[in-house]
Amino acid sequence: MLNGKTIQVKTDPYKTIQTSKASFSSLKNDALFALMQNSKTFIFKYEGEFSLQPNGQKIQVINSLPLEEYVAGVVEAEGGANKPLEYYKVQAILSRTYALRNHERHVGYDVCDGTHCQVYHGISKKEVDIFSAVKATENLVIVDSSAQLITAFFHSNCGGQTCSAQDVWKSNLSYCVGKKDPYCMGMPNSTWEKRISSADWKNYLTTKNISLNDSDECIAGNMNCSANKRPFYYVQKNTSLPTKDMRTDLKLKSAYFHIEELDNEIILHGRGFGHGVGLCQEGAMNMAKKGKTAEDILHFYFSGVHVVPFDKQWLFKENLPTTP
Ligand SMILES: [Zn+2]
Ligand SMILES: [Zn+2]
Repeated sequence: MLNGKTIQVKTDPYKTIQTSKASFSSLKNDALFALMQNSKTFIFKYEGEFSLQPNGQKIQVINSLPLEEYVAGVVEAEGGANKPLEYYKVQAILSRTYALRNHERHVGYDVCDGTHCQVYHGISKKEVDIFSAVKATENLVIVDSSAQLITAFFHSNCGGQTCSAQDVWKSNLSYCVGKKDPYCMGMPNSTWEKRISSADWKNYLTTKNISLNDSDECIAGNMNCSANKRPFYYVQKNTSLPTKDMRTDLKLKSAYFHIEELDNEIILHGRGFGHGVGLCQEGAMNMAKKGKTAEDILHFYFSGVHVVPFDKQWLFKENLPTTP
């Protein structure tokens, strides 16, 4: 459970130790812990306290630290270095909202340090702007029109068209609607390409119960390059294959692609990187470069939301119209 403003993060265990239970903490306030491998190599540095608990054959390492310090570490791990200050503010508000909303996904600690929750590799080391952004947005979170913390989805690049949560996960979230994004094109992850031989393509489709004959003319199905919209299904011979499943099967950067058919191969022309729901990180970075504020950016990607101090959510609840 989140205890005041302290958060408990499970970190990857690097050692197997036999113990009933152990805990240790720093002697000085400015002391840092380091997890070590082979007792020499420093991997990541951590603040706060650690506790160690046996978990089967392994030891479970839990790091407890102030929420705002955790947010700074997540901003660095998820946002990267050398980004605009307003973008760091966006990522800080998103990461804080995510932690506060999702801290009950695990038993015995609040969040894990991998992509299941949010990537966290210890304290933020290099970027002064990250600390400024976390400080400037301290306690700020995003709530929906019902004053509930939103599930703050984000992805690397939407390819110019974000998705609704309904399109991708069949869950209806009023604040995640698909929209055109003019800000992320030309960014590093805006396009990708993958070539697959016609034989491999046909074999793949066979595993999905779609059998193509040599006489079949169009193996690109409904996804030829003349189409201009984000397709959610590959349709062939009355069978619809979700593009998000194809993304997983074929290890594609996104489910947003069209198919060009050549003599003995096909080319998947793809756009974006990630699921496309919520905030597009590269679009947000570009908006920040163009002078947009963190609030402008969050309101662009999330519909009908409010950015509020965490303990003031009730103000918005009080002002909501009552439904019969
Ligand atoms: Zn997790
Ligand atoms: Zn985008």
